[in-house]
Amino acid sequence: SAIVSLRGVSKLFPVQGSKRTQRTEAVRAVDDVTLDIEEGTVVGIVGYSGAGKSTLVRLLNGLERPTEGQVFVKGQDISSLPEGELRKVRAGIGMIFQQFNLLKSRTVSGNVAYPLKVAGWPKDKIKPRVDELLEFVGIADKAGSYPRRLSGGQQQRVGIARALANAPDILLADEATSALDPETTRDVLRLLRRINKELGTTVVVITHEMHVVREICDTVVMMESGRVVEAGPTYSVFADP
Ligand code: ADP
Ligand code: ADP
Repeated sequence: SAIVSLRGVSKLFPVQGSKRTQRTEAVRAVDDVTLDIEEGTVVGIVGYSGAGKSTLVRLLNGLERPTEGQVFVKGQDISSLPEGELRKVRAGIGMIFQQFNLLKSRTVSGNVAYPLKVAGWPKDKIKPRVDELLEFVGIADKAGSYPRRLSGGQQQRVGIARALANAPDILLADEATSALDPETTRDVLRLLRRINKELGTTVVVITHEMHVVREICDTVVMMESGRVVEAGPTYSVFADP
């Protein structure tokens, strides 16, 4: 069944019109998107820069509210939830980013412990959880290092461990491998696949790189000018003519 559903979702942003007309116009960053993301799958959202991928992701985790339509996460319509309720929904969604977004002043352990502290985990439970997460992503030996001492691939593993800390059902990866070389990219993609298989996490991969999708995604959603122009199993979308 669907863990995330979008029904006729549009997001408009006001943009300043030309000086002459003084009109405020709007850009449809996301334009009438209807979409189901099936639980336990790896889904790729692909499209060129400006296609609306980031806006779509921000709609999924409640960082933006739709101008039109509804966004359902685990059956709940989050389109008009109050901010406090949205925070709870967001807590069930892990995010990883192109630039890793790690805290420079904290060690690897400190970075992974951070979301657990915020969630109010008791102190004596935090350390074993952090150790388990670092072990899972394969950087237990870097627990005491600072992020700047790590390679890009290692930093992204820390980002992934942090995203998994509160055992989210959904992991959103926004251009998570765009800053990595091809070999490191493959390692990180394999890790995402393993997270999906072993933890059952639904993984949503946002990327402008088609090869990323071809490597790990069960299904693919192609966006262009805010619209979904193609969606289906990866093999059918990329099938040779
Ligand atoms: P990407 O191409 O990786 O999606 P962008 O540079 O397009 O990144 O966007 C980065 C951030 O800036 C996003 O949060 C996006 O919503 C915002 N953004 C993009 N275009 C505009 C714009 N024209 N005006 C204001 N904010 C924008
Ligand atoms: P992508 O992630 O595929 O690069 P975005 O979702 O960042 O695409 O942007 C889609 C379109 O919406 C672009 O034309 C972008 O400039 C515009 N846009 C995104 N965020 C904003 C914003 N906060 N304000 C104005 N325009 C925006």
